[in-house]
Amino acid sequence: MKWVTTMSSCEDQGFPCQNLDYSAFDKIARAELSDPIDADELVNASKYCMRIPVDPNLTIGDLDHKLFLKVLRDKIGLYQLWVDYQTCDDHGSNTMLCVYVGKGPPEIRVSSHIGKKWASDVDLFATFTPMSNRLAKYYEQLFLDTYAFDLNSLENSGTEKLYAIWNEERYTLGTHLHEISNISKMQSPHDW
Ligand SMILES: [Zn+2]
Repeated sequence: MKWVTTMSSCEDQGFPCQNLDYSAFDKIARAELSDPIDADELVNASKYCMRIPVDPNLTIGDLDHKLFLKVLRDKIGLYQLWVDYQTCDDHGSNTMLCVYVGKGPPEIRVSSHIGKKWASDVDLFATFTPMSNRLAKYYEQLFLDTYAFDLNSLENSGTEKLYAIWNEERYTLGTHLHEISNISKMQSPHDW
């Protein structure tokens, strides 16, 4: 007899994986803004997405968090910090949990998070969407009003968890690995 399983691992284990519902967030942004960005775009399709090295003991050459964050230099917008939640083998996707939302120059702010409160054994992922400071302030507040983030202590009245779903490429390589390796001083694998 052939063993047949009808449930995928996300259904079986009951973690969020496909078609997440962000309607609580989108409904408000659509009512208040003339050209709203949906939550799906901000969290699952952000222009920047990167896994940032946080453990100095595991740093390869000059590829530390400062080098990664350099590609965000002089930019303004909305950033979010993420940790692993679950991996779904059936859908080849990674469910991520958002632990912080913020606005401003991401290079400086994310760097300060790493220095102050990030445990070096927890993988850190960051997403960033460039936008005007005024809009970033709006989306930051809307996220804070809708979702609960472990590392936001101020003005965080939301209660739902915010998840993202990333495919293997976004999860493993991120969006800017090429730019990051271009500014690395390591010229060849001999430097690694
Ligand atoms: Zn799944």
